[in-house]
Amino acid sequence: MNYVFPPSALTGVPIVAASALFPVRRVFCVGRNYADHAREMGALDQADGREPPFFFSKPGDAVVAGSGEIVVNYPPQTNNLHHEVELVVALGAGGANLAVDAANKLIFGYAVGLDLTRRDLQAKAKEKGHPWDMGKGFDHSAVLGEITPVAQCGYLERGRIWLTVNGQLKQDGDLSSMMWKIPEIIANLSTFVRLEAGDLIYTGTPAGVGPLLRGDVMTGGVDGIAGFSARMV
Ligand code: MN
Repeated sequence: MNYVFPPSALTGVPIVAASALFPVRRVFCVGRNYADHAREMGALDQADGREPPFFFSKPGDAVVAGSGEIVVNYPPQTNNLHHEVELVVALGAGGANLAVDAANKLIFGYAVGLDLTRRDLQAKAKEKGHPWDMGKGFDHSAVLGEITPVAQCGYLERGRIWLTVNGQLKQDGDLSSMMWKIPEIIANLSTFVRLEAGDLIYTGTPAGVGPLLRGDVMTGGVDGIAGFSARMV
């Protein structure tokens, strides 16, 4: 194939105990998937009942990944950058209109990441009924640690998820508190778009989101898989 200029390279995510990288295609995110976070965002109605999941996305090249300390650039146009620690599902196969009991087959592995959010821009967008894109989909907005293959850790349904900032525990929840479980998320999303290998799904954040500043060091983890360490510059 001939292009008028070289096509941009895919973002590669390191995999535990492997030399090959996971090539990122798209990044999907689930909104308000833990009741305690929905409450802290003032979305009480969603917290009380199980409304259908909703999704937003980030560009694939918004991912900043690594197995050592990940260096994250503080984004422009915000005075209120928030951390949201999330379990991230990495897909190794594709499919559309999947049944819930067929959805797990798409999972290549899991990682821990941050859905970084320019909360001030997101709040303004919500107020005006505008898209969330500029609050959510900026450069380095999808922080991601190493992927642990499902062959190594099994399918995750429960386990602690946490984030520390400068050594202080800020978010501390459990995967079992997700309102929409991982196979349900995959199945539902696959009715809107055909999922493909290389897609990442950020599965929502527990309570405790808050602001980050340049110089902050973040450590995120989920029981049973590799975590991440990142520094904001
Ligand atoms: Mn999120």
